[in-house]
Amino acid sequence: MKKRAFIGKERAEELAKKYPTPFHLYDEKGIRDNAKKVVEAFSWNEGYREFFAVKATPNPFILKLFKDYGCGCDCSSLAELKLAEAAGYSGEEIMFSSNETPAEEYAYASKLGAVINFDDITHIEYFEKNVGALPKTISCRFNPGGYFSIANSIMDNPGESKYGMTKEQIFEAFGILKEKGVEKFGIHAFLASNTVTDEYYPELAGQLFKLAVELKEKTGAHIAFINLSGGVGIPYKPDQKENDIIKIGEGVKKRFEEILVPAGMGNVRIYTEMGRFMMGPYGALLTRAIHKKHIYREYIGVDACASNLMRPAMYGAYHHITVLGKEDAPCDSVYDVVGSLCENNDKFAIERNLPQIDTGDLLYIHDTGAHGHAMGYNYNGRLRSAEVLLREDGSDMLIRRAETLKDYFATLDCFDEFKGLFED
Ligand SMILES: *Cc1c(COP(=O)(O)O)cnc(C)c1O
Repeated sequence: MKKRAFIGKERAEELAKKYPTPFHLYDEKGIRDNAKKVVEAFSWNEGYREFFAVKATPNPFILKLFKDYGCGCDCSSLAELKLAEAAGYSGEEIMFSSNETPAEEYAYASKLGAVINFDDITHIEYFEKNVGALPKTISCRFNPGGYFSIANSIMDNPGESKYGMTKEQIFEAFGILKEKGVEKFGIHAFLASNTVTDEYYPELAGQLFKLAVELKEKTGAHIAFINLSGGVGIPYKPDQKENDIIKIGEGVKKRFEEILVPAGMGNVRIYTEMGRFMMGPYGALLTRAIHKKHIYREYIGVDACASNLMRPAMYGAYHHITVLGKEDAPCDSVYDVVGSLCENNDKFAIERNLPQIDTGDLLYIHDTGAHGHAMGYNYNGRLRSAEVLLREDGSDMLIRRAETLKDYFATLDCFDEFKGLFED
């Protein structure tokens, strides 16, 4: 399927006058239409809630949009808890799914009344010692080990992942927690990332539902919710098929009716914690070609770099590129599209077929709405870009300004010579 930009050249050039490139642009209409569909897909389940994974796009304006669809927030650190709080989320609208958690973060989550998801059995004692009495509702994260596979194809390797409790541990944990007065339980698992298939959630749900029935029978725990976490993917590549969230919801419903309903557990709530699926396709990084270089390969140098979008450098991830104004031009040139970092992995595209690019062209790097700006860093003294929201009515709104040198040097305020040098 041909990947289309959600903005044309003319409007993008207008925006680039107001917000110097590079910047991330988010499409409010796309975000809202998708969120509506997600809620519809699970509307069969009373109490369903999507807890948007804050780490994907930690911007309070974005978090607020999801409020309109009854979403909550999934947080994993103090900063993310504060963001969720600032965006107006409280109590059980906040899921705290962290690991290697410092005591003060548990304390803050507890103060907000967030649902705490223990990553390990030892955290029960750690929490009691360092924070105090356990909340009445507790979730535990499960890791089945081995490989996670669907129809004989291996999707991921939980046996090598640091998260969650073994099966024996989760039984023991529920027993201990129950004895200590916990009344409502949840089960959480995240077994595969960026799955581009409609079978991931249903397969995971099947496994967790069976575990839930066993946990209820053996420990007597009241299982209030099952959290399928994140992992629903998006088609970064043009040849990939988009997930159908309605079908995914139906697949989970089928397992729910087969496994939980006959066990008398038809009132269990289904939770999800999607990040990528909620935001990925509805963000783009806009950057301008500023150099062309011809050596052993053809290079296009752009004004963005891996500090604006780390996924290609970090995972070799593919992000599609549209040259604005040349959407239908033949892709008869082969380029490496590169940023300025002194790291040869700072490449947004490697030997990619693209239309002929001229300096000054605006490039639209697709699918940066999740884990894009969020993973930004400051290597080489590069600054993180602005985030702009393209509103439903076509207007635009700056939802995070670009960093300045003053921000960059703020932590050197102990060095007197910097004082006054970076006033703007
Ligand atoms: C990263 C993460 C998510 C979101 O994952 P996506 O792949 O973006 O959907 C959800 N829950 C937890 C605990 C995570 O760490």
